[in-house]
Amino acid sequence: MASFRKNQTLNKFQTLIGEIYALTDDRTYSLWDLLTQQQRFTMRALKGIRKGNKKKLIKNLMISLSWLMAIANRFHITIEDEVWRRFPMCCSYCGKKPCECKQTKLSRRKKIRIKKFIKPRSLSGMQRIFNEIYPSKSRTLADAGVHWAEEMGEVSEAIHNYLGQHFEKQFDGIKHELADCTSCIFGVANSADINIAIELEKMFYKNCHVCHEAPCICTFTTVSQLRT
Ligand SMILES: [Zn+2]
Ligand SMILES: [Zn+2]
Repeated sequence: MASFRKNQTLNKFQTLIGEIYALTDDRTYSLWDLLTQQQRFTMRALKGIRKGNKKKLIKNLMISLSWLMAIANRFHITIEDEVWRRFPMCCSYCGKKPCECKQTKLSRRKKIRIKKFIKPRSLSGMQRIFNEIYPSKSRTLADAGVHWAEEMGEVSEAIHNYLGQHFEKQFDGIKHELADCTSCIFGVANSADINIAIELEKMFYKNCHVCHEAPCICTFTTVSQLRT
């Protein structure tokens, strides 16, 4: 049985999504389909923010995160590693914890030297670090949501560019954007006081969260009609 426990890592969650969904995804969905689904559930989560409906936000935030993992799996990119390369316990832009971008207004990304590659041991530890880098008090939940939408667009853009020209630099762009998008998911969760690891444990206690099978046997129609 495939399941997630709250003390596990983001890496474990990504592997789990592969175990449950890779077979069905590979047979049923093009990369563009995966992106459409990821965007669809992100938008539903944003609707949850606008309506002040936390339950709706939680459910769709988790589903959106799992589609993001499916996209990373399609490219064989390990999101956890990319997140720590991009955010080595500090802001990826100004290199500070907490982030000082608002005060310093840098026009260019600072080169961050990584002394030692350290990272928290669990997904919840990761979420905590992101709250230290980007304190939820410093912005509203709506602002965090807008930032997430912006980064989701950049993921699409990076994939579009890479699939057009297949330059290695463009592949690196996908890695960066997936990391940025993940950091925004942590940001939204922190602003809304949602513990991602706990929610994933509740949702993925037995295989697919809808059909409870692994591999998932949800049909294309079931997924497209999912109202969350
Ligand atoms: Zn910063
Ligand atoms: Zn299923």
